[in-house]
Amino acid sequence: MTRLIACVFLVLLVLTGCQTASETELDWFKGNLHTHTLWSDGDDFPEQITAWYEANGYSFMAISDHNTIADSERWLTIPKGTVRFETFERYLEASPEGWVEWEQGADTVRVRLKTWEEYAQRFQKPDSFLMMRAEEVTDRVEGKPIHVNATNIAEYIEPQGGQSVVEVMQNNVNAILDQGERLQQRVMPHINHPNFGWAIRADELALIDGERFFEVFNGHPAVFNHGDSLRHGTEKMWDVVNTIRLRDGRPMMFGIGTDDAHHYQENAPSRANVGRGWVMVRTSELTSDAVLEAMDSGHFYASSGVSLQDVSFDGTRYHVSVQPEDGVSYTIEYFGTTADHDPTPIAVTDPDTGDLITYRYSDEVGRLLQRTDGIEATFEVTDEFLYVRARVTSDQVMDRPVMDMERQRAWTQPVRPGQSP
Ligand SMILES: [Zn+2]
Ligand SMILES: [Zn+2]
Repeated sequence: MTRLIACVFLVLLVLTGCQTASETELDWFKGNLHTHTLWSDGDDFPEQITAWYEANGYSFMAISDHNTIADSERWLTIPKGTVRFETFERYLEASPEGWVEWEQGADTVRVRLKTWEEYAQRFQKPDSFLMMRAEEVTDRVEGKPIHVNATNIAEYIEPQGGQSVVEVMQNNVNAILDQGERLQQRVMPHINHPNFGWAIRADELALIDGERFFEVFNGHPAVFNHGDSLRHGTEKMWDVVNTIRLRDGRPMMFGIGTDDAHHYQENAPSRANVGRGWVMVRTSELTSDAVLEAMDSGHFYASSGVSLQDVSFDGTRYHVSVQPEDGVSYTIEYFGTTADHDPTPIAVTDPDTGDLITYRYSDEVGRLLQRTDGIEATFEVTDEFLYVRARVTSDQVMDRPVMDMERQRAWTQPVRPGQSP
């Protein structure tokens, strides 16, 4: 018997050894899944934007324009002497000979926007740059903007509508997942900027079936990542969502970072610029299947500037180490909710109308559990926790911050005791 146990233990050791060996072959790939172009309300040509991402260390991207997948013949008329005309001139200058399709008018030029097939074919390179077709499915209900990103789709998805915030989100998520099912293609829906237009509450986000992702960080200046005096920011919303979901025995939601870039002509806190938020995905190869599968498994982190060396979880020990930059200091914090937390939502209502504004939750939901100054930390995720997640903050201000003095960060995904990540 003892011998049998020893053998089983040995097999486990070997298996664990194998896993560790294969993990060393995994790479981190940087990507942005939310960006706009002239196909909707972005202010540059898709090729110019893609070229920026390619030149700035990104391995993959998804251009997600509002309610279009860039598949039709679209001509823009641009008056001479405008900022847009200068954008056109830069585009012409930067493009290969004969690439731009345009016509000269008296006081204008007409230029055709390249379709996704055209520009993706130009930039995609096996093993070095991956483009996934995407759309920001842009819907509305009760005067609130409900935006759901659809990554790696093949066909246009019409906004599905619905009677409530939850129904509109669910209908759009279902339409995205249905397309993936029908075309046998791995697709990824993610809920965009829940605090934009104060559209989506955490308790509503928690209810969406089949949705595993939302934007914990979005680089657009109008999306209220940090909430306001009444409403929770996106990080606390994330904690509320996962606390509710785990109480109900449902899968957790992961947090992503995106640019939601619109403005490429001027960098300013008031503009939606590139390079603010992204994801780092750990996988073995740069294909849409591999990247999206890794994200589905939580093998990624969101970042607004901090790079991580390693994130590992063996069912108990949750370890995070930073890829440090010279002269920069880091703080690693773990957050989580214990099973015995106070779950009571507190309604915040408008004093004049009595209408519900939001729910607030106690500090026991997403409590700060441990803070370490340094580039490495470990936290024991014991059975008392529903989940635990980590956040790393550097002492450096973000490149092009929206908010004054906003520090660079990384957010790792939540883990549950005894589970693989
Ligand atoms: Zn949006
Ligand atoms: Zn957007």
